[in-house]
Amino acid sequence: MRNARHFAPRLQRWLAEKAEAQQEAPPAAAPSSPFPVPAPAAVNLLRPPVQLRRPDPTSPPVSGDQDKRQLLVGEYILEYVLKRSSRHSIGFTVDDTGLYVTAPKRCTLGDIDNAIRAKQHWILSKLDERRQRRAARLEKPPMVWEDGAKLPYLGGEITLRLYHAPRNRTEFDPTAMELAMGLVQGATEQLLKERVKSWYKAQAEGLFQQRLDLYAARLGVQYAGFSLSSADTRWGSCTVQRTIRLNWKLIHFSLPLIDYVAAHELAHILEMNHSPRFWANVGRIYPQYEEAKQLLRKRAAELPPLFT
Ligand SMILES: [Zn+2]
Repeated sequence: MRNARHFAPRLQRWLAEKAEAQQEAPPAAAPSSPFPVPAPAAVNLLRPPVQLRRPDPTSPPVSGDQDKRQLLVGEYILEYVLKRSSRHSIGFTVDDTGLYVTAPKRCTLGDIDNAIRAKQHWILSKLDERRQRRAARLEKPPMVWEDGAKLPYLGGEITLRLYHAPRNRTEFDPTAMELAMGLVQGATEQLLKERVKSWYKAQAEGLFQQRLDLYAARLGVQYAGFSLSSADTRWGSCTVQRTIRLNWKLIHFSLPLIDYVAAHELAHILEMNHSPRFWANVGRIYPQYEEAKQLLRKRAAELPPLFT
């Protein structure tokens, strides 16, 4: 993870310079800032919380009942975290932090090693996929949270405008495609990020609701409810109770991609699987679904890390 401490001083410095510039400007020019220049050392920044995704959301939090183990698989030394649980079979999960194995309490270590070897092809390819994705993310220039920064929005870009304000405020100008954030003195980068994220979520909520209504009518289904999710790897879901969740991060992508996910999840109301019948329903309301599926994957991989 990038060191947020590195950027906060930049933000503070920028705000300080901005305030100074405004104070020095002749009276006819920009109104001078009524706020004193923030003390450069007064940075009160909390590091953003490290998001460690647990492999199984239903499993108990990390505790003493798990341990780190190693196993030689072919030419690889495979490291994994073993967790014991009351489930009846051995389960595998791969995420950015590695491989997690959940096994019934009665399973011997030999049983577990054999199960891993039997699944080694899947495990190694998933680990490799994760590693490549992580490497691709790290190659991208890190987002710098400063005035003029570009943010992805609906497949395009908006410009972040920062200024000093007596109270925190957020305004979006759709013509100029500018998101203006008034920041109180001493505002941290963490606070700025949270506010940008809230703004994204508010936009997502309104827009996704509209798109769901539109496509539900076309498909001839009714959904029971809708909420936003922020899962790392899923764009949407639909429960048997017909509740749809869409990932707010879809707001970064163009409308056709958002529509594809909306149409996909709505089609699950009719078919809770990915059978040919399911895809036929998707195709009825969204004929270009195959292209959208590929493009969504591509765009997701290209997305710069924003809130890490
Ligand atoms: Zn699906």
